[in-house]
Amino acid sequence: MLDSGTFLRWMAAMAAAVDRDADLLTELDSAIGDADHGANLRRGFTAVAAALEEEPPRAPGAVLVLAGRRLISTVGGASGPLYGTLLRSAGKALGDEPEVAPARLAEALDAGVAAVARLGGARAGDKTMLDALQPAVAALGQDRPDAVAAAARAAAEGAAATGPMRARKGRASYLGERSVGHRDPGATSAALLFAALADATG
Ligand code: ADP
Ligand code: MG
Ligand code: MG
Repeated sequence: MLDSGTFLRWMAAMAAAVDRDADLLTELDSAIGDADHGANLRRGFTAVAAALEEEPPRAPGAVLVLAGRRLISTVGGASGPLYGTLLRSAGKALGDEPEVAPARLAEALDAGVAAVARLGGARAGDKTMLDALQPAVAALGQDRPDAVAAAARAAAEGAAATGPMRARKGRASYLGERSVGHRDPGATSAALLFAALADATG
């Protein structure tokens, strides 16, 4: 079972991962976007980590709601409202449950992914963060003891699979065919989110 301590470690691990890989994320965004994805997420998750440290919520859902709110209020780029919506919606779905099983987290994240799809209008195959988020959440929902590790692998594979895709949403879509051959930055950061979850639970 995952408790609020696990969720706090998850968000701290994500902040550390984004800080470590900010240059890579920005490099990916410089190929098919405006070269700010690393900076955007670093600003956002640094603020998330600070807010959670200052006043650690007592329930997993409340950790995600606070994290989501912080991302929305601190990140100007598309990724802030999108990741913010993912975490806030998932957190609301968890309510005040003190502990959640990975399959329950998968259900909540599924609601978050649906909210991201509604907000951004993207679908699987559009070369966005959804291409990593959707397979990761599906793997997390499987009834197996290594579901979290499987989710991290599925997210990484989903991010890698965006390379040959043509972008149909976000800034990268302005490039049309020229977006082919570059990994999507947001799918790459979504893989970090699930790697961080594996770190926090492992
Ligand atoms: P911006 O594009 O505003 O500079 P970022 O660079 O921080 O924002 O984030 C870009 C990432 O956001 C993309 O790589 C993509 O994964 C994701 N993204 C952009 N638009 C959408 C959308 N409509 N739906 C889902 N994800 C999107
Ligand atoms: Mg950008
Ligand atoms: Mg930008």
